[in-house]
Amino acid sequence: MLIVAVWLLTVFAWISLVCYMYLRYQKSNLQYVDGRSKQVALLLIAHPDDECMFFGPSIHKLLEIGFDVQCLCLTNGNFYGQGKLRTEELIKSLKVFNIKSENVKCLDIDVFPDDPNALWPIHQLSENIRKHMKTIANLHLILTFDSFGVSGHPNHCALRNAVSVVQKCHRDLLFYELKTCSVFRKYIGLLNLPISVALYICGKTSLVALSSPMQVWCNFLAMMKHKSQLMWFRYLYILFSKYMVINELIIIKDSAVT
Ligand SMILES: [Zn+2]
Repeated sequence: MLIVAVWLLTVFAWISLVCYMYLRYQKSNLQYVDGRSKQVALLLIAHPDDECMFFGPSIHKLLEIGFDVQCLCLTNGNFYGQGKLRTEELIKSLKVFNIKSENVKCLDIDVFPDDPNALWPIHQLSENIRKHMKTIANLHLILTFDSFGVSGHPNHCALRNAVSVVQKCHRDLLFYELKTCSVFRKYIGLLNLPISVALYICGKTSLVALSSPMQVWCNFLAMMKHKSQLMWFRYLYILFSKYMVINELIIIKDSAVT
């Protein structure tokens, strides 16, 4: 029995290693279009800490490809009246990824409160996103949550709905969403590797961002910058969450174009 268990573990370890190498060293199908100026990828999030809780591997991947990454956060995370502090934490967190403070913007608009019970007006939301997009030269790509919002938070889901509206006016840009996985997959971290590879090969995802050990450490350090949010269960999240290590991205197809 023990021999079988050891044999199975060894086989799984080898499969995982092969998957790791495949994902880390595959040629990305998201190509950086070289121009005279660096192109920009805009990360759309709802709350300070979304960037490292969920999007750390994607940020590393976009930077590796050659993008300049900017971040627009639709709230300052003021649910408990800590908006100013949480804005500062977001800036510090993104600094860990080498993203400058001038490339980070936190909005504080009454109709988009940090509140899981608030339904954000989608049209107004898309208008505010577009207004910010106009301030970015060489914008090429937008990344946000999918319609399940990873955690199901309505503020996350609203962003995806707004992006559908934005996309209709910006068909020249690339739009990606972060795939929400099942709760089981969410908390088995690196054990997701074979599943992520299988989904990618089958065409169920468009891009897999897998962090190297140094990048995982960077994601951890970024999480540590959100001191106001570091309850005990956050440490469990850091240890086990897939989103600290792997992001599966899906390209958002314009529904008006077939
Ligand atoms: Zn959030």
